Amino acid sequence: MSTGPFTIAIDGPAAAGKGTISRAVAAHFGFAHLDTGLLYRAVGAQVLAGSDAVAAARALTAADLAASGLRSAEVAQAASRVAAIPEVRAALTAFQRSFARRAGGAVLDGRDIGTVICPDAEVKLFVTASAEVRAERRFAELREAGADVTRAGVLADVRERDARDRERSTAPLVPASDAIEIDTSSLSVDAAIAAAIAVVEARR
Ligand code: C5P
Repeated sequence: MSTGPFTIAIDGPAAAGKGTISRAVAAHFGFAHLDTGLLYRAVGAQVLAGSDAVAAARALTAADLAASGLRSAEVAQAASRVAAIPEVRAALTAFQRSFARRAGGAVLDGRDIGTVICPDAEVKLFVTASAEVRAERRFAELREAGADVTRAGVLADVRERDARDRERSTAPLVPASDAIEIDTSSLSVDAAIAAAIAVVEARR
């Protein structure tokens, strides 16, 4: 593929398969990948540790994205709370946009990549799945990581985070009008990845 900028925006709710698809698409095309949820998780983790959200977002560095513990359910909830603050989102925009336009191509996954961060992305995907399927996947992941969670608790968390992400006034979770939707509820991981790669291939 060409070595100039080429942006693939992958949005969708928690645990729909965005991360898996994004990593696989990036590897397939040799593109860089940014999990933008990590930016909000890193800010959320700093708020849990006592920092001010806006100050933490403004001072965020790439090294903060490698902090341990960012995958926990507690940090996910803190992330979705700080993500509703417009000044936090504004502070994280420039980093995401410059990543998106780097030479050699980039895949960014999140909630507002195709709508707000990269409205001119060459490819936009919206990856969804039912809340029950997403909660089941997240439950398995968290259990695998040794977390003490219940199915019902994870489903309640997923629903709460979905509602907050969809209803916020700044950059709500909504598909871009020109996004291609992939519902992974009844797709295998391989089938979901193949569907995403096919969409990108068609736009090259
Ligand atoms: O994708 P992940 O579950 O890591 O995201 C954590 C939280 O960060 C989401 O629930 C959402 O509130 C927020 N987020 C966002 N915009 C993005 C990525 C994540 O608001 N682009």
